[in-house]
Amino acid sequence: MNLAQLLSQTAKNYADKPAIIFEETVWTYQDFYCQVNRYAAMLSDVGINKGDRVAVQMPKSMEFLFLHFAILSIGAIALPLNPDYRSAEIVYFLTDSTSTLFITTSDRLINLQDFSNLKIILTDQVSSQTFDKCEFPNLLGNLSQLVEQAPLNYQPTYPSEKHDIAMICYTSGTTGRSKGAMISHHNLITNIKALHEAWQWSDRDRLLHILPLFHVHGLNVAILGSLYAGATTIMLEKFDPHRVWQTLTMQSCTVLMAVPTIYQRLISTWESLEAKTDLSKMRLFISGSAPLSDRQFTDFEKLTGFRILERYGMTETGMNVSNPIESEQRQPKSVGFPLNGVEIRIVNPDGIDLAMGEVGEVWIRGENVFQGYWQMPDKTAESFVDGWFRSGDLGYLDPRDRGRLYLVSRAKELIITAGFNVYPKEVENVLESHPYVKESAIIGMPDHGLGEKVVSAIVLHEGMDATSQEIIAYCKCYLAPYKCPKKIFKVPEIPRNAMGKIQKHILLQRLT
Ligand code: AMP
Repeated sequence: MNLAQLLSQTAKNYADKPAIIFEETVWTYQDFYCQVNRYAAMLSDVGINKGDRVAVQMPKSMEFLFLHFAILSIGAIALPLNPDYRSAEIVYFLTDSTSTLFITTSDRLINLQDFSNLKIILTDQVSSQTFDKCEFPNLLGNLSQLVEQAPLNYQPTYPSEKHDIAMICYTSGTTGRSKGAMISHHNLITNIKALHEAWQWSDRDRLLHILPLFHVHGLNVAILGSLYAGATTIMLEKFDPHRVWQTLTMQSCTVLMAVPTIYQRLISTWESLEAKTDLSKMRLFISGSAPLSDRQFTDFEKLTGFRILERYGMTETGMNVSNPIESEQRQPKSVGFPLNGVEIRIVNPDGIDLAMGEVGEVWIRGENVFQGYWQMPDKTAESFVDGWFRSGDLGYLDPRDRGRLYLVSRAKELIITAGFNVYPKEVENVLESHPYVKESAIIGMPDHGLGEKVVSAIVLHEGMDATSQEIIAYCKCYLAPYKCPKKIFKVPEIPRNAMGKIQKHILLQRLT
């Protein structure tokens, strides 16, 4: 079944109920789905067909959601992109995905002249006449105007089969090249049903939404969970800790989903709250995307009385494992037990199952597991063994507690800073394109607030000098701010092993 069709059925049962309240504006389920259908009519009108890739790079907004579900409704494939991505990054995603349509703001048009077949729709109010039609022959116009012109009473036909792809979400490899994870309608539907059961979602729930929409956490876990349950989402454009505490009280929220960095800021602001926060309606504080520390878990419980429910998932698999709904069964540092329909194994580098308590790679199997990497059959083959997905995360099952899963670290060199993934190679490539930089190594340093912070060691060419600020400013021209190093260490050499491989653990010891 098509996910958008499934959600449209829920919408019929809750027509007049608020589906999403975004910055004070209420969108009932009926309003929401009318808009989704208008956007679907527009997409169909501009020639988007089943299977076409539609890349969307826009700020957190209702329009993003209308578009997302409209893309799914017509059987096309949604490619949500971080609004912070710079044009060089966008060029890669558009080229790799061979997208048919790119919906973005006018400042992103730089460098897109070579995409002669790419249709472009602008979300800002800049008139298309501003741009030279020869350079952008497929600039279709402004999003809201095109939606206004679209045929009324359009009904999508939801032409997707079970395993058809709904989304391509770009993740990265340790080689630095982003990989497009192909996620099917079936993957999303089975995962959302498993979470519905595990977290006991109901139509009485009121979710406070403070996460970005371009990542699976904010979109596939939070928004889908709430819409599938017929619940109400109170969506804020930006995260502000005081506003979160205030909104939880004022809007009688029942569920919050966040990353550990956000919980850290909520803890830090608790003491300074002027009005008392009323959490009497709250049911669940959920955390994921990065490890929640023992201290964050216990501090939060001391202040609020709530034990945060930590869960473990990834772009490729959706959610795998969750702590139990029963509060007393949630344990700090543990991500819990497999969700319904998800199987977990812990294996050694030869793929042999390890005994409980032994640390190995987490392998995952289930209907939630994605369909492979877009046009990367080799990478896809490397990532699977007999139908099991190799997560790249290291963990163990606790023999004293029914095989509860603990994650210990990532096998890959992924850095997670404030819940966002940073792949060292990608940053190293940018640093090494700087004329003064001879070589570089990016590492993640433990950081209380961010989880990990991106730092870099660089070796400069002989006779050259540049300040750390200049190097960081250079990175910011090519990379989203969260990927840029927060600190640069100029070093005489970078430690390597006999095979020439950088020894990052030694580097980390030297720099701390
Ligand atoms: P992403 O694909 O951006 O969702 O990132 C997935 C990665 O985030 C996983 O492979 C884990 O390394 C990490 N991750 C997600 N949830 C947790 C968690 N609760 N604890 C530790 N790491 C996590």
